[in-house]
Formats: sequence, C-alpha cells, structure tokens
Amino acid sequence: MADATRLLIKSGTLIDGSGGDPVPNKLLVVEGNRITLVGEADGSMRPETPDDRVIDATGKFILPGLIDAHCHISLHQGALPGVSYTSTAEFCSLWAAHAIGHVLHAGVTSIAVPGGKWFTDVTVREAVEGGLLEGPRVVVAGRALSSYGGIFDPDPYPGFEGTPADTAGVLCNTRDEFIRETRRQCKRGVDLIKIADSTWGDVQTVADDEIAAVVDEAHRHNVKVTIHSRGSTSTRAAAKAAVDLIYHAGLATQADLDIIAKAGMPIAPGLTSPWIGVAHDGAGRRLGDGVRDRLRAQLDISFQMIRNARDRGISVMSGSDTGNASAFSHGRWHGKEAELFVKEVGMPPMEAIVANTSHNAWFMGLEDEVGVIASGKLADIVIWNSDPLFDITVLQRPSEISTIIKDGRVIDRGAGGFRQLPDEPPRARTSIPG
Ligand SMILES: [Zn+2]
Repeated sequence: MADATRLLIKSGTLIDGSGGDPVPNKLLVVEGNRITLVGEADGSMRPETPDDRVIDATGKFILPGLIDAHCHISLHQGALPGVSYTSTAEFCSLWAAHAIGHVLHAGVTSIAVPGGKWFTDVTVREAVEGGLLEGPRVVVAGRALSSYGGIFDPDPYPGFEGTPADTAGVLCNTRDEFIRETRRQCKRGVDLIKIADSTWGDVQTVADDEIAAVVDEAHRHNVKVTIHSRGSTSTRAAAKAAVDLIYHAGLATQADLDIIAKAGMPIAPGLTSPWIGVAHDGAGRRLGDGVRDRLRAQLDISFQMIRNARDRGISVMSGSDTGNASAFSHGRWHGKEAELFVKEVGMPPMEAIVANTSHNAWFMGLEDEVGVIASGKLADIVIWNSDPLFDITVLQRPSEISTIIKDGRVIDRGAGGFRQLPDEPPRARTSIPG
C-alpha cells in the first residue's frame, strides 16, 4: 500500500536502470505506487505543498530497486538457541518471514525464488502481497524437480527410498512423474518450475524429453521453467526445450552457447555462491580442499563462459543464490554478483547494474514496470550515498543506502527488530546446492 502523501525526490544523480548515462535529476515525483514525473517540474505538476514528503538526494545516486534473480528464502534454516529442531514447516515459515525483511533492507525490491521447502515460499509471496509481511516483490518455485542423482535429490547416496517432507527437492524419475509434479505445483500457485540437474554438471540426470515435458506442461499454465544446469548436454537440452531461464550453464561449450543464443533465453550464472565457497570456505562450512579446488575451477570456467555468452548477445542475468544450502545470509550478498561480473568477467559497471535491474524485470513478470526509473513505472527506488559506477561494491553495502522505496512507500529500516540471522552451522554434506 503506497503512502497517500506525494513523495518528491530532489536533486541527486539518476542511474535509471536502462543502461543510459547517469544524469543530474532535479525532481522525481512519486504518487501512489507510481513514478509520475522524472526531470523537472512542468505545467502538469501540482505545486508543492506542506503535505508532500520531500527527500533531498543532493550528492546521492538514485537507482531502481535491485532485482535478485536467484534468492532462496525457505531452503535452509540456521540454528537458534532454544529451537530444538529447525526443519519443521512451522519454523521454516517463521524463518522465511524474518529473512525476507533482510532482503528488502539490502535494497532488493524484487526476487525470484527458484526452489524451497513445502509451499512456504508461495505463502510468503501471498503474505507480502497481502500486506502481512514487509518484503520485496516475489516470484517463486516450489520444490525442485529432481531425479535420482540430481542436486536436489532429497535422499543422497546411499539412500534410495525416502523423500523426506522437509527437503527442497521432490523426486521425479519418469516423464509422468515430472508432469504430475508440475501440475501439482501449478495448482498451488507457483510462478516458476525449477528442474534440478546434477550438482556439478559432469553427468546429465534429467532426460531431454523430461525437460521438454515440464516446459510443455508449465507453459500451458503460464508458468515459467528454470533449470539448475551446469553441464554441457543438460544446458543444450534445456535450450532446445525452450526453458525460460538457465541457471549456471558453466560447462556450456561454444556450440551449446550458439544454441542458447538462437533459442533466445537468458542465463543466470550464479557466481556468488561458489565465490563464497572459495573465499570464505563456504561461510565457515569447512568444505575441504577438494571441494574448494573444484569450486575455483568452476568459477574460472564460468567467467570465460559468460564472456563467450556476451559475445553472442546472450542475456546474462544477475542472481546471488542467497540462502542456498548453508552458505549465506539474507541481505548480505545480493550485490556481490555485480562485482564479480565487473572484476572477473570484465563487464562494464553500467551493464552489471542493468543486469541487477531492468534486465531481471521480465523474469518477475514485470517487464517495463520495475527495474527502470521513468514516468509511469512502479516506484521501486533505492537512493545510495555513493556512486556504484565508480565502485560497484557499493551495491553490497546496505550501510550505503539512504532510502528504500518499494511500491511507492518509504521503508522504515528501523522497524521490525531485524537482527542478522546466523549462518547455518557446518553440515556433513559438502555439495553446494544451486
Ligand atoms: Zn539456488
């Protein structure tokens, strides 16, 4: 619900999310939940009154709210003193409700949630839309559809029987099972279906016709399809099946990328998660040298794959994979992907900003509505104290945020008692789900 009062943002440098040059901006007007004027007052504007809320952005930088195309909310819960068992639907819901506020307070006003437990994320989305929770705009998948050996196989080797209810993957081992689960999730109101291929991409665990069957089923429900696909053949199959977005794609060859470019879908590499694995030992998870080396190799090959993809005009989307496995906390790492795009891939900072704003908007189903600051757009705006074009790491420092506006409303960042959630303690499992 937007404020009834009109919001006037004066001065400041506008980086509007379209990729255009930054411009000094005299006045930006928000009425209700829409931006109604960008530039300077003209004859159509009601004169300023004492009822208007005025924000002086002199010396500051006005950007669209960030959009994180890969942010889990219910995938993992950390330990808390006094909570004996955290993997219950009840605790998971409380955790997700708390986590989502941290995301918004980091300047992220929209997220895509590719997989989680139960239908917790659908409920969180509904709670945000209904005004019960303060959070970003959300599109969600349900549990990831995974065959035996896939990254979200809920019963890792040596088990073969169980499908524990508290896991973020659901076993589908035949084409019919993939279709049935897709229909079940569509019935509950997901926005996305997440297919899960293998952890590292060295084998393809979901068959070509299973991917195609999911796409056919989901698209008839107007639901998008994504896939965790690191491998060459799975990525190629996903492109041919016309999934909407490929997560990772690290091992895609030049020939695979040609097929993706022809098919026209974007990729979201997700560099931040393996980077944390290498630089922070998986946020204290003690990954071991073997896993760290493998993650480092995965990063290097992904950096080059992204360069190859950009050469072909493939759209590269930014997603942090926040909340994945045990690795990282909500609100802390959403801007890291932009830094890796710039410093490791060689992307110009403006392109990295676009990858975190207007580029991701279509995936939210809000193309031309969010991710850009222009008259008529939804008012998701973040005002930063420093210039992210000069230092892209600004986007990962909530301390640099002056004001967050979501849907026309200034977010009270003092509210809610947001205490940083603890990272999940180290676990025995050493893979990094995506
Ligand atoms: Zn993920």
